[in-house]
This record gives sequence, C-alpha cells and structure tokens, in this order.
Amino acid sequence: MALSGLDIFKLLPKTNCGDCGVPTCMAFAMKIAQKKAELSSCPHASQEAKAALGAAGEPPVRLVKIGGGKGLEVGGETVLFRHEKTFFHPPGIGLQIRTSGGEDKNLEEIRQFEDCRADRVGEVLKADLYFISHDSGDKTAFLRTISSVKANSTKGLILDCPQEEALKEGLGLLVNEKPAVYLRKPLTETDIQTAKTFGTSLVISASSHQDLAAQAEKARQAGLADLILNLPGEGLGETLQNNTILRRSALKKSFKPFGFPLFARLGDDDGNESLAAAAALLCKYASIIILPRFDRALLYTLFTLRQNIYTDPQKPIQVDPKIYAIGDPTPASPVFVTTNFSLTYFIVSGEIENSGTSAHLVVCDTEGQSVLTAWAGGKFVPEKIAKFIKDIKLEEKVKTRKIVIPGFVAQISGELEEKLPGWEVIVGCQEAADIPTFVKNVNLI
Ligand code: SF4
Repeated sequence: MALSGLDIFKLLPKTNCGDCGVPTCMAFAMKIAQKKAELSSCPHASQEAKAALGAAGEPPVRLVKIGGGKGLEVGGETVLFRHEKTFFHPPGIGLQIRTSGGEDKNLEEIRQFEDCRADRVGEVLKADLYFISHDSGDKTAFLRTISSVKANSTKGLILDCPQEEALKEGLGLLVNEKPAVYLRKPLTETDIQTAKTFGTSLVISASSHQDLAAQAEKARQAGLADLILNLPGEGLGETLQNNTILRRSALKKSFKPFGFPLFARLGDDDGNESLAAAAALLCKYASIIILPRFDRALLYTLFTLRQNIYTDPQKPIQVDPKIYAIGDPTPASPVFVTTNFSLTYFIVSGEIENSGTSAHLVVCDTEGQSVLTAWAGGKFVPEKIAKFIKDIKLEEKVKTRKIVIPGFVAQISGELEEKLPGWEVIVGCQEAADIPTFVKNVNLI
C-alpha cells in the first residue's frame, strides 16, 4: 500500500538541511508521496528508511535499459503530464528488420537508419533500436541478420523470434549487449528461464488489461524486474486509451504490474496515418516505438517532436556562455552580443553566417533565457554584460572597440557604454533575419 506523506516523513532525518532541493523534510516527504521526488535525492536517508520506504521510494515506472555500453534507458517517469514536472527518458525509436526482407535490402535499410540523424539546437538527434523479426523460418537468416546489425551499429536490439532454438542462438551472439526479447505469445516458464539465462528484458504482449497484469505479475514473482508492456488496441484510439490506463494505474494507483515502460509497433499503414499514430503514441505514453520501414521524413518529424516533449520546460535549452567564432573571424572582425538561449544563439549565428561576414559572437550567461525575457529578468542588463565582457577579456581578443547589441534592448546602450569605457555600443536590428542587411549598411569595425 502506498505510504502517506506523514508515514514517509517519520522515516526521514528531519534535519531540514535542504540538500534534496526542498526546504524541509516534510515538504520532501509530500513530494515523494506524490511521486514527484525520489528518496535517492536525500543523501542522508538511512538504510532503514530506504528499506522501509521500499516501493514508495522507487520510481512508479521502472527504468529499463536496452543495449550494451551506455544503452537506451526507457521508463522512469513520475508524472502523467509534462507540465507537472518533466519527462525524463525519451522514447526509443526503432526500425523493424524482417529476416524475409533479404540481406541486401536489410543492409541498405540498416545503413540508411544509421546515417539518419539531425542536428537541432545543439543536440544530435538519432534513432535508438532495431527490432529483428524472424519471419522467414530460416534460422541462419535470423542469425545473419543479427550479425549484420551488430557489424553496422551499436544500437540496442529487440529480438522477435518464435523459434526457441534460434532465439537462444541469437541471444548467444549478444552477450553483454542486454537485448530485449519480444514475446508474440503469453509468457511461459521457458520465456522466464531464457530471460534469466541471458539477462534480457522481456516485452510482454496481451489483448486485455487483465491478461497483461497477470503476465506481468507472473514475471515479477519469478524475479524478472525488467519488463516492457505491450497492449495494442483495435485502432489507434483504443491503443492510446490502453496506454493511458496503464500509465495512470502505475502513477496514481501504484499498481506495480503496470509500472513498466510501454511498447508500440506501427502497422504497415502508409503516409500520414503512420505519422499521426507515431506522434500520438510518442505523446501517450510509448517508451519504445517501432517503425515498419525506414522513412526519413517520419524519423525527422519524430526526432523533433520527441526533443520538444522531452525537454524540461522549466530549463530552457542553452549553449555555453563564451565567445563563438562565426565563420573565420580575425581580431579585426566585428563583435555581436546576445544571450545563451539555444534558439537565440542558433538563429543569430545562422544569420551572421548568411550575411557572409565572419564575426565574434559573445554569448552571455542568461540562464538560457531569450533577449527580452533575460532583460526583463535582470539577466541581460548593462552591469552583467559589462562584467562578462571584462571576465572573458574581450579587449585582448579583438582589435575593434565596437560591440553590437540586439535591437530589442536598445535602451541599455547608453548605460552599457558607461560601464565599458573605450567601447562603442551599436544597437543592432530587432529581428535576426535583418542581420545580413544590417551588416551591409553599418560600419561595425
Ligand atoms: Fe530532509 Fe534529507 Fe531533504 Fe535534508 S536532504 S531536508 S534530511 S529530506
């Protein structure tokens, strides 16, 4: 049974030291009870407290890892909606490779999938998994497909193989690579033994909530901790409803058999239906999404959506505050100043590049806020900009004594000049898109 905030409080040190990021032990206990914090955030919790809290201190959705090395971690979520806190572990996006597809075609898809990546606001976005379906009946084709993926990729693998002998030989090729096994049929003792022997996680499939709960409980009772749940519906609407019930049961009711990451596999529908389904499943609450074929446009769309949904809304994406070389600047090149909000940085640097001018871009630490927000919050103000410019010793790195500030903060130019004796402050354009025209018409050096 879930512990109340008061029960949890009694187990905490009650020193109110604040090291957990919350001012008091009582407030921290309430957060644990609401699944908004984990006991591990309190560095002073006793062993007795950890043991007594047990499930109450664990994340309601288990974190499951697939793949060797760093691998892909999915699950570990604590809230139903991103705005309640944040989502922590982006879903893995995988490609189904069928052994019936033929070696050449499969190899071509693997190469395309490996090459498919996007660089967006400073992050490299890429896919994570292969789902190898043994549908040809030819064991050697299955083993060759695994070897082919291994030879060309370090991504995690999920094996979908109905033949016990072939599955075991396939898993034998993946020692230390922590693959997952997808079960087409209800969980058996053989499946449990195979998972234990090879240390794999299991994707359990069912056609009803009751059946899924029974299978998950059977696996838990057998000592298997790393499960992934698959409860597809008749259509997308029913699948989303299933996923929502599973996630809600885990988070709100602490129903342990459903406290695992969720799995989804797209059908062979073409075009926009696949995109709509994948996007909806990514939002509600699939931790693994398998695509039936390589589709670059679909992948790029999912990468972008995934990045947006799984970025902490309370922590703006930011770049390091420092001087950036745009193009190939010399000490005589012009100097632009802006904030370290990622989007601001990438838009401004992109437009400076578009202007054909090489320049130094001084990116001040505004805790990831954009120009006007940072100015209104006192983070992009003359005192702080001047201090940053002095701290980075800009005057030793450039010959020019002019800096260009964003047009939206024209009002700080006078005060900034007072705080930076010897520098001329030029008010730039308001919109980054106007930088190329601005550069042509204003003497910046
Ligand atoms: Fe209390 Fe632990 Fe938080 Fe300190 S870190 S306030 S002891 S819960």
